[in-house]
Amino acid sequence: MLLEIDNLYVNYKSYWYTLKVLNGVWLKVEKGERVGIIGESGSGKTTLLKTILRVLPQNGIISKGEIRYDGRNILKLSDSELAKIRRKEIGMIFQDPMAALNPVFKIRDQLYDILKYKMTTEGHNPSSKELYEESLRIFNDVRLPDPDRVLESYPFQLSGGMRQRVMIAMALASAGKLLLADEPTTNLDVTIQDQILKLIHRLVVEKNLSIILVSHALGMVYQMTDKVYVLYAGDIMEEAETRKMFNKPKHPYTQLLIASTPRLSSVGVGEGIRGKLPDYRNPPAGCRFAPRCPYVMDKCINTKPSRIQLSAEHTVSCYLYD
Ligand code: SF4
Repeated sequence: MLLEIDNLYVNYKSYWYTLKVLNGVWLKVEKGERVGIIGESGSGKTTLLKTILRVLPQNGIISKGEIRYDGRNILKLSDSELAKIRRKEIGMIFQDPMAALNPVFKIRDQLYDILKYKMTTEGHNPSSKELYEESLRIFNDVRLPDPDRVLESYPFQLSGGMRQRVMIAMALASAGKLLLADEPTTNLDVTIQDQILKLIHRLVVEKNLSIILVSHALGMVYQMTDKVYVLYAGDIMEEAETRKMFNKPKHPYTQLLIASTPRLSSVGVGEGIRGKLPDYRNPPAGCRFAPRCPYVMDKCINTKPSRIQLSAEHTVSCYLYD
């Protein structure tokens, strides 16, 4: 097992209130496995990825839980151990490349920094020529044209598509084992989205990386993953092998989420899910989906349903399967 998350609780605290976002999240990723996380915007997907890498904003508090990565508890690592993992083992593609790239340094300085660290910790002190050649190789991997110009540019001098490719290149340079991809094509033109996804998919397969792909684009998750988790309001509602999840969803939320996604092959667009995500200041005490669920029962209101194993590759948290 490469990554195992257990009973993870994350809150955001402000002077006036606490947002109780992640509510006992669990998740497993095997070596080389491609895992998707789906759910509406605001369900806690980005918070979950940032927690794995421990890059939450200052007011994000991990109040409980464990994140075991390759035999180590991420939450107990020192800053230097964590820095090593971020630079050599786990790479992250953020929604907004500008958030990941430092605006005041040229791309060359940012990429060389990662490569130099990686090579030095492998016992080799690289020359400038070696760093340059490695950069060209990485840029070639992500099909980034005009590498010399890119290396000499500041992030703001590049187009959105180029910045995204630079970020993917940098994430892949540091992802020795695991890639976390948070809505990797959100800010891109539709014509480029497909290219970027194919690129990520190819590189993950070629390098035998594990990936956690977070997206509300269900088609993308269907094509790129082996297993899917459904996250709703900070709770994992269902886990299943990808095709099973899309063909035979069990949880009422998953069923509505999939049914509300427009498909090219069907007539019209699904109705959507009535209601909205709960207020994280005061979320429901029981099943967090209860206020929107068409099958809600009395017991759903006060007590959170536990995980029910329907088969080896299918788990659901819902009283309907108790
Ligand atoms: Fe609906 Fe109850 Fe199942 Fe939650 S536990 S999804 S409220 S039936």
